[in-house]
Amino acid sequence: MKGVAGETMVLASRMTAAALAGVTLGCATQMPSHTAPNWPAGLNAAATPGAPAVAACALIHVVVPEALGNAAEGHSGDWPSTYSTFVLRTPRGVVLIDAGLGTDTPADVAKAPAWFRWSVGNSVVGAKPLGQLLRQVGIAPDEVTDVLLTHVHWDHTGGLRDLPKAKVWVAGADLSWLRAQTDYLTEGAMPAHLAQLGERLQPLAMNGPAMLGFAASADVFGDGSVLALPTPGHTRGSTSYLVQSNNGKRWLFVGDAAWVAENYQVPVPRGWLVRKLVDQDQAQTADTLGRLHALFTLGKVPLVTAHDQRSWQDLPLCVDLAGAATPVS
Ligand SMILES: [Zn+2]
Repeated sequence: MKGVAGETMVLASRMTAAALAGVTLGCATQMPSHTAPNWPAGLNAAATPGAPAVAACALIHVVVPEALGNAAEGHSGDWPSTYSTFVLRTPRGVVLIDAGLGTDTPADVAKAPAWFRWSVGNSVVGAKPLGQLLRQVGIAPDEVTDVLLTHVHWDHTGGLRDLPKAKVWVAGADLSWLRAQTDYLTEGAMPAHLAQLGERLQPLAMNGPAMLGFAASADVFGDGSVLALPTPGHTRGSTSYLVQSNNGKRWLFVGDAAWVAENYQVPVPRGWLVRKLVDQDQAQTADTLGRLHALFTLGKVPLVTAHDQRSWQDLPLCVDLAGAATPVS
């Protein structure tokens, strides 16, 4: 009897689990489905004569534990949310993907509205500024030749004022939107971060062909080392960068088009409340995630999100946690 009762209970619990799973699936957001794109033969950087050598590594400003359910709908537990900047050493010089947090970030936060200071602002207290991190790896801030912005949110532009000479590349859609803003903090952006750049600001012209499932492309430096791809939704001009080295290594830096690996691997969107708050266009964000998922399934390039170290395959830290420079390859 005990056994039967036990089996009944197991069966009942399985049925409950199945019912709950059904409820969960019923509530889960349907993600747009896209077929895996073709990988153009011309994108095989290692086989391209004269292709530039690019070494990449990651700088970490600060790590903040956050609820995974906010970043990935239906998930639980914590994830280590990382504020980062990526460094590319290229023949043309030091190029950064985004400019994370800077020397002025504490002052920036102090000037923001109270709700921001108490929530997001508090989490970056004690963050290492970009200038300091660069010096730790032997890069003088004025050596940085270019910054490729994935989008114009404050935690990706905060270190721009640490870089006195860099050209700053940004999608036209983000730039024209930002230029029309008058508030100090608006939809996650601080327009002052870009206002002082003058001639160093370079709108990205997405005048190259559709590629890898995305509507257009731009060969940023004209040598095939960095291709910009439109991945809109999180912001109007959110951009991903496909970086290729002549040793066959490549990465797709997606910024915040995905926050965590689950977003493009499952795929699954951010939690419903969070995406209402942080994504300028939710439907477009979901469509972009569907396209990133299709590219992910192709298995040709690791996707690197700005905030999830778990997605940083084949991408070393520029400095270890003790502050020592780590070799890059
Ligand atoms: Zn971000």
